[in-house]
Amino acid sequence: MSAKVICSNDLELRRTAIMTDGNATGTDAAEFPSGDPGTSLLHPGVSKFGGTSLATGQRMLHAARLVASQVDGSGVVVVSAMSGVTNRLEELARVDDPDVRREILDELGRVHLEGGRQIMGDAFRGSDLSKALERRLQTLEDVPTDLPLPRRRDRIVSAGEDLSALLVTRALIEVGLPAIHIDARRVVRTDERFGQAIPDDDETLRLARSLLLPLLKEGRVPVLQGFLGATDSGETTTLGRGGSDFTAAILGAALGAREVTIWTDVDGIFTADPRLVPEARVLEEMGYEEAVELAWFGARVIHPAAAKHAVGRRVSLRVRNSLRPEAPGTLIRTDRRGSAGVAALAFRPRVSLITVRSRPLFMAWGFLARVFDVLARSEIAVDLVATSHTSTAFTVADGAPLDRVRRELETFSEVEVETGLGTVTAVGAGLRSRPGLAARLLMALDDIPVRLVSQATDAALSLVLESGDGAEVLKRLHRELGTTDTPSPH
Ligand code: ASP
Ligand code: MG
Repeated sequence: MSAKVICSNDLELRRTAIMTDGNATGTDAAEFPSGDPGTSLLHPGVSKFGGTSLATGQRMLHAARLVASQVDGSGVVVVSAMSGVTNRLEELARVDDPDVRREILDELGRVHLEGGRQIMGDAFRGSDLSKALERRLQTLEDVPTDLPLPRRRDRIVSAGEDLSALLVTRALIEVGLPAIHIDARRVVRTDERFGQAIPDDDETLRLARSLLLPLLKEGRVPVLQGFLGATDSGETTTLGRGGSDFTAAILGAALGAREVTIWTDVDGIFTADPRLVPEARVLEEMGYEEAVELAWFGARVIHPAAAKHAVGRRVSLRVRNSLRPEAPGTLIRTDRRGSAGVAALAFRPRVSLITVRSRPLFMAWGFLARVFDVLARSEIAVDLVATSHTSTAFTVADGAPLDRVRRELETFSEVEVETGLGTVTAVGAGLRSRPGLAARLLMALDDIPVRLVSQATDAALSLVLESGDGAEVLKRLHRELGTTDTPSPH
């Protein structure tokens, strides 16, 4: 019996990615700017708190104590909106019905003012904090209706992070830290893609260093809103849903942080979504390439751009549970890859498959270039691709704006669009040296039609399935790759 077979039940989904300390395999490390000796002396931590870690004033105080307990309580704090708030604000930006609007505004007022009361107790009434919260809540009623929607939306949804940053700054002060709120709009410079803005790395790096390093040197704890930025002209932008992780990574990279901690409400990155696969386990660590693929292909625990950005500048990320801070969490190493084997599985529902067939007389060499040129001009992100001599098929998220793409493609090809599919992805390291892997995945799913197979890297193998049932697919594959003999962390 080969070693492969002996291992197959327990080692494929390995518990940890063990690697000696590593500058191991060439990360595409962008060079960290040198010149300011303060940077190398400081290496502050960056702590980012997600919405559930900030769901109430009590939780904010708890988060503040976690910051205080870290090394010397120094570093930068990045906050998300309180849990559920961004969704409500998006609704507010969409609806016109005055009753619905009133209801949302009242609810947001209640949640944040109650947070303030929990943080400050009796001192909250009439305090600067209460006035600042009221002012920001009031601006929500006054956003000009003639602004184009994406701009208007960003002005509105940014209130979530603005309000939580005010509260968390106060919570940190309550536990004795010299916190200071710095508006992320002064630091994160972006383009004008409202709703999905892309940070200008160099400018953001420069601003972060010039604004934050002096404060850190004084021992202050800067608190910034995640997810927000501003254009050159000072217009508020947002980085896309879940973008606070991205902010934390950008700041971590700019400041040469020793580690960026993503505080969330689960114990770390799991071998599969634990809500769908009860026997899923927490990974102690993983390489960044796996983390990026996993985040992109369905694991919601971390924003894909965050991992990419931090490790590109050799900052490691750690995902930790603010409700169980004794758990070590998952370390995303700056190593490009972890140790060999499948580390984790992810499922992404609501996937569309677009099949483009070239017309019979079309030249063989220009076809793909033309297809992808159409996609690039429409700024459609393609996830997976497979191609044959006459066709190319690729996936995008359901609901991607395909009308124009379709029209343009149809000028030189036949186009078919299928929606409601799912993608399952196995991530790990050295997958190409596991020849049986694809066969095992396909066997375990042998009653589900597979529409596309893609393995473009050594770190991920994806199947596009005619199934939106992630729970069933993940359970079967998790069982196949073996996890049942290792204890659950809970
Ligand atoms: N509050 C934003 C969202 O819910 C950003 C974030 O939490 O990362 O998407
Ligand atoms: Mg998040």
